[in-house]
Amino acid sequence: MLGMSSSSSFFNEPEIEEVLIESDAGLKREEEIIKQKQEEIVKEMKEELDKFKNVGRNEICLCGSNKKYKKCCLLKHRTW
Ligand SMILES: [Zn+2]
Repeated sequence: MLGMSSSSSFFNEPEIEEVLIESDAGLKREEEIIKQKQEEIVKEMKEELDKFKNVGRNEICLCGSNKKYKKCCLLKHRTW
């Protein structure tokens, strides 16, 4: 009885390992997608900051909110 159960766990081991390798590869793909997205976001941030570069703090914000830049997107840009 004891020998049977230990041999069955031995046969199960490679299966578990395979699943781990698979999920590891999936994780790496996910990391790459996240990295790409982050790079895109950083690029967009830079472009937007460039756009707002010449906007005064008391001028109406460029985003169309009709609020002053300092009360609108400046708050967002500060956290970047
Ligand atoms: Zn704004």
